[in-house]
Amino acid sequence: MSNQTDDIDAIVTSLRRQLERRQRAGIHVLSRAEVALFDQTMPAVATDEAKVMAVSQENLFAPSSPLAQVPSLEALRSAIGDCQLCKLCSGRTNLVFGVGNPHAKLMFVGEGPGRDEDLQGEPFVGRAGQLLTDIITKGMGMQRSDVYIANVVKCRPPENRNPEPDEVAACEPFLKKQIDLIRPEIIVALGKFAVQTLLHSKLPISRLRGNWHSYLGIKLMPTFHPAYLLRNPADKKLVWEDIKKVIKEMRGENA
Ligand code: URA
Repeated sequence: MSNQTDDIDAIVTSLRRQLERRQRAGIHVLSRAEVALFDQTMPAVATDEAKVMAVSQENLFAPSSPLAQVPSLEALRSAIGDCQLCKLCSGRTNLVFGVGNPHAKLMFVGEGPGRDEDLQGEPFVGRAGQLLTDIITKGMGMQRSDVYIANVVKCRPPENRNPEPDEVAACEPFLKKQIDLIRPEIIVALGKFAVQTLLHSKLPISRLRGNWHSYLGIKLMPTFHPAYLLRNPADKKLVWEDIKKVIKEMRGENA
């Protein structure tokens, strides 16, 4: 028992020193993701002072950030826990973290779970998901388990409405950490929310799609979202053009 108390004391002292160092360095802001991790891992030291303020993405990957120290996707998932960072938590059945190969060369990023995904806890398993699965299996000759699939927001927006800016901001650090852990060679950003979030761009998907971009040195190909294709099947040919570029890049044929 006293060993446990000593351990907790040591952790508290170390975290206090870390916070003091950060304050001396002029860092007075924790990202919301950091605050959540702080709360979930160290409830004893999650003081109001430490929870000050909203989102600063800059220090997310600083060596002192609790999120930066998460070593694996499993650890990230358990650190996210029963996330309450935004209002989407109240309507969810399951938090939809992501699925696939943790060492995938290719990663797909969508917008957010729909009804089927919320019920099953897995991304892209509804009608739009079937289309994405066809793209992966029939179009690219791969298995879903070869790639990694995640979303910008991990909880279903009510009635499948668009995610709101505060919801995207609250969840974005988790997506970034997933990408950081997987380090894919290529990201396919499905639709406006995925590409605008990752590239911090306001340009429409119709302008961005079909061209290579870079997300922290990772090649990023934006294309239309499969749900959009269900409504606009004539644009499937444009997505196929984009996917053919991805296939060529994966085969090293663009070198
Ligand atoms: N649409 C998305 O963006 N993501 C899913 O997981 C399902 C549908």
